[in-house]
Amino acid sequence: MSSDTIDFTLGAPVDIDIAVTWLDGTGPTEPLVQVHALDEHTFVLRQSLKVHYEGPFVFLLLGNTGALLIDSGATSDPETWPLRATVDRIIDDWLAVHPRKSYSLTVAHSHGHGDHTAGDSQFAGRRNTVVVPTGVAGVRDFFGFASWPDATVAFDLGGRVVSVIGGPGHEEAATIFYDPWTGILFTGDTVYPGRLYVFDMPQFLATIERALAVVASVPVRYLMGCHIEMSASPGQDHPLGSNAHPGEPPLEMLPGQLARLHERAVSIAGIPGVHGYDDVIIYNGKETVQGFLRPA
Ligand SMILES: [Zn+2]
Repeated sequence: MSSDTIDFTLGAPVDIDIAVTWLDGTGPTEPLVQVHALDEHTFVLRQSLKVHYEGPFVFLLLGNTGALLIDSGATSDPETWPLRATVDRIIDDWLAVHPRKSYSLTVAHSHGHGDHTAGDSQFAGRRNTVVVPTGVAGVRDFFGFASWPDATVAFDLGGRVVSVIGGPGHEEAATIFYDPWTGILFTGDTVYPGRLYVFDMPQFLATIERALAVVASVPVRYLMGCHIEMSASPGQDHPLGSNAHPGEPPLEMLPGQLARLHERAVSIAGIPGVHGYDDVIIYNGKETVQGFLRPA
């Protein structure tokens, strides 16, 4: 170990800076990418709602030997979504402080929908970089799930060991990531303050139960999903397709909200349709989500 090897177990989960106001598309102009450092080694990036109404969040976690990018956003054009340039700059700045002979990048996905994978193409040809395939077989084989989706797999960024948890229900190859360094459970489109489109309720419930098992066994401070769709008024979402979200609740949710979501999902599991609550709206069943399936 070199003297600059960072101990990602020391004091974990560490204090993070959660106080951020996300750009919500209401200003006359805003950056194409908003970057917020949770700490020196962990970044949340938001794609501007002005460029794509999904305004997805992506996450960059840096370890001693490599970085993990969770998701690549809703569009591919680097002119309007300079994801690659932003990620390269963050990694270069980090390497200037923590020099390494080589450093890898893994581009993984919360799930395979287009608003989370469209930026993958920007990473083609990048040195020391792997883009994880989408689809169950690709995800299972890349991470080495002995049993999908029940197994939990360790993914090591060099002393920063992230757990990868099978997360189908919203999408068949969805995954949830737990980062012990920050105590964050990255929940993709399975849990976030917005419209939770449930394609397969039994799988969704099993995924929530796996997430609850994580909460019961290791320190989980926050859940972070990939969108904000709820408004400042409890139970009220911003309309699908809107490029401005005046008054958004925070991105992060608390473990107690996961337990409540589970209770609610159990209670409406047999009732297809749209079920609204203060902090989320559950769309139960394929029939409710057809509109969502149109191309981004
Ligand atoms: Zn999404």
